[in-house]
Amino acid sequence: MNTKINILLIEDDKSICSYITASLSGNGYRVITALSGKEGVSLAASFCPDVILLDLGLPDIDGCDVLRQLRSWSSISVIVISARVEEQDKVMALDLGADDYITKPFGPAELMARIRTSLRHSHSAMPGRVYRAAGLEIYFDKRMIYMEGSEVHLTQIEYQLLSLLAENSGRVLTYKFIMNTIWGPYTDGNNQILRVNMANIRRKIEKNPAQPQYVFTEIGIGYRMRENESV
Ligand code: CA
Repeated sequence: MNTKINILLIEDDKSICSYITASLSGNGYRVITALSGKEGVSLAASFCPDVILLDLGLPDIDGCDVLRQLRSWSSISVIVISARVEEQDKVMALDLGADDYITKPFGPAELMARIRTSLRHSHSAMPGRVYRAAGLEIYFDKRMIYMEGSEVHLTQIEYQLLSLLAENSGRVLTYKFIMNTIWGPYTDGNNQILRVNMANIRRKIEKNPAQPQYVFTEIGIGYRMRENESV
């Protein structure tokens, strides 16, 4: 890596700041920290980070409001850091346009993996034309899916759903985001149609649908597809 990746960390807990800064610097990233939401929003504009790590519990502005402000002018990758166990905060942040979330306490390996995934997505305007992981292949151009070399037949909706997840592999997509993307914004918020289609997809691609290897459920939040290994 020749040019350093810039990370903006918005977090009011100084000990967490120094822990994250130390592990990111040790991995070759340049880190700048903001201890409040206001400072974070202004640094996001002046520092032009590649990724923002955003704590939801800030002393001045709520993290979700920081995210709203950022999203009004920027599409920088935002990974939400949350100590809160309430699923609703994470879901709200993801619905507001956060790219991913990580829950405290987390180890450096998990943090690095999340950052790499979000960098990969922000740096590729076009998704890879092939998704490939553990025997599953999706050719987006041809709309073909193979499992260990044999073609898998999906309905139109099942294909749209699986390819949406595959194009965002490694990231969690919320139920609301998926529903809006595939069924449009006027759905009634009932996820039943999504669950039924997901069950059908799993029956077709998973060896054991109860223990999925490709599409994982993030309970109360949404789905995350196994990372694409072809990119
Ligand atoms: Ca905090």
